Amino acid sequence: MTAKLTFYGGVNEIGGNKILLQTEDGSVLLDFGRRMGEYSKFFSEFLVARSKNALRDMLRLGILPKIDGIYTSHLVDMTVLFENEAVSEKVPLKEALDYWKTTDVCPCNPEHPAVDGVFVSHAHFDHIQDVSFLDPCIPVYCTEKTKVLAKAMTDVSVSGVDDQYYKIAKKVTIKQKAPLFKTLCPGECACSEEKEEEHPVIEDPKTKFKFTYDIAPQYRTFITASEGQIRGIKYKLIPVGHSVPGACSVLLTLPDGKRILYTGDVRFHGAGEVSIDEYVRSIDGPVDVLITEGTRISSDEVITEQDVERYISADIGRSEGLVLINFGWKDLTRFNTIYQAAKENDRTLVINPKLAYLLYEMHHSFPTQYPDPRTMPNLKVYLKREGDLLYSKADYDKYKMGYLHYHGRNIAQTDRNIVRIAERIGVGGDPNNPKNPLPPTSDREPYNYQDLYSLATHHLDNGVRAFQIRQSPKEYVLMFSYWDANELFDLIPLDRKQKTRYISASTEPFSEEMEIDEAKMVNWLDFFNIDYDYEIKNEQKIFARRHISGHASRPELIELIERINPAKIIPIHTNSLNQFEDMFRGKVVSPKYAQPIEI
Ligand SMILES: [Zn+2]
Repeated sequence: MTAKLTFYGGVNEIGGNKILLQTEDGSVLLDFGRRMGEYSKFFSEFLVARSKNALRDMLRLGILPKIDGIYTSHLVDMTVLFENEAVSEKVPLKEALDYWKTTDVCPCNPEHPAVDGVFVSHAHFDHIQDVSFLDPCIPVYCTEKTKVLAKAMTDVSVSGVDDQYYKIAKKVTIKQKAPLFKTLCPGECACSEEKEEEHPVIEDPKTKFKFTYDIAPQYRTFITASEGQIRGIKYKLIPVGHSVPGACSVLLTLPDGKRILYTGDVRFHGAGEVSIDEYVRSIDGPVDVLITEGTRISSDEVITEQDVERYISADIGRSEGLVLINFGWKDLTRFNTIYQAAKENDRTLVINPKLAYLLYEMHHSFPTQYPDPRTMPNLKVYLKREGDLLYSKADYDKYKMGYLHYHGRNIAQTDRNIVRIAERIGVGGDPNNPKNPLPPTSDREPYNYQDLYSLATHHLDNGVRAFQIRQSPKEYVLMFSYWDANELFDLIPLDRKQKTRYISASTEPFSEEMEIDEAKMVNWLDFFNIDYDYEIKNEQKIFARRHISGHASRPELIELIERINPAKIIPIHTNSLNQFEDMFRGKVVSPKYAQPIEI
């Protein structure tokens, strides 16, 4: 068998890369991201895929590809979860089998999965999200940073069926409800998670805190070695710059010696990121097939992250009051740019708890590269007035009150850590309760209570609230997006006389929904008398951006391709395939959706 490459996403579209490589000895996927464009053709913020049917519905709509042997079996065929015959008889199975079972694909057999691994080039949703549907027997290959990021993204989100790229939801059984006094419909069918016999106690890796869980979390297998072999396929992960940490290209050497380079998303103009020279050096040898991204093949603009910092610093410098700034929370390069710009202007950057959480996770895993956000000068975490809007300690939990994403549940009534955290906050937690015997703090304890519990409640003690910002607005730069617009009620005094400036340091809207949100943001800013720079496009105000893209420009892509000098080029993640065809005549192989290319 000759090796084959099949493209199931990223073909004439930006993102959604899904590339299947099959060889005589081993098969792998290169990314398995969400095709955002296809998904949003049908779904929107308030109409999302039905979680119990997501795989089957998205296969039918063509958003997910029909590939045999890779998807988790109970997502393909929900009837495997039926507890017994009685359940089958309760649902209209004969009339509508297709509601619960699809014949579009064969499910994965964990003994013989159709692919031996999935590479994830970086943790953007258009490259990672649909890993959620792959059988957990298929390991994920990525950099350690991508793994840490995937974990952090999971920790701070409400997880649904399509957020299972890191953590896997516990399998459910579909059974009849028992006749209990609390049950309105005994005998009727429902999904129920299998409860564990004992409440598992699990150690938090960064704090060594042990917490009681209802159900033990399950995770995918991640392999983060930078080089290795998957059956007959050798691989090497090559770090690259992008608008998220941990991005890499994947270099594969096939059993017959052919070399394939998949770029993932790349740029060469970020701060302290890999140069084209370094990149070409790590590839070290001829490339037979180059699968390259081409997002910006039509753009000559080359500005650097340093330029962005200069502009933002100047913007802050000419602002007389509070500065609000919008940027992507996973873009730690941009965070650093804005942090430096705030410091240059003697201001404190106030970030949201999600970003703070990610910074601490990165610090924990890479302490020499990322400082502890708790000790960074001029950096604070914002405490929204949320929950019951009382600024009550009870309005916060998990990562919103500190650097832990889990505080356990004291169902077993033996969780000493909950008691300690409560004590620390000064509310609740009865240290004299005989059911919760607290150990004395001593050398025998594996950790220092004071320090570690301060981690759990850090924002409550050190966070910044809107009224504090309103008292001295000139001292702050606040991370701010459309989703925070309600904060303006608390941030801007009633007379609206305070001078406030908004800066957009994020990507331009690239979908209809984003354009609508931008128009709404304009309304908010105008109402609250907030200054911003803009241009008019199609009679709509569009914010002037302090931003550089995560993608290489045309001149950079051309230099890259010429220096690698591959025998064949397959451009993906682009809307301008023809530009590649014109420039690299005879070398370009244009991918077609789901049509194998022999190599
Ligand atoms: Zn990306």
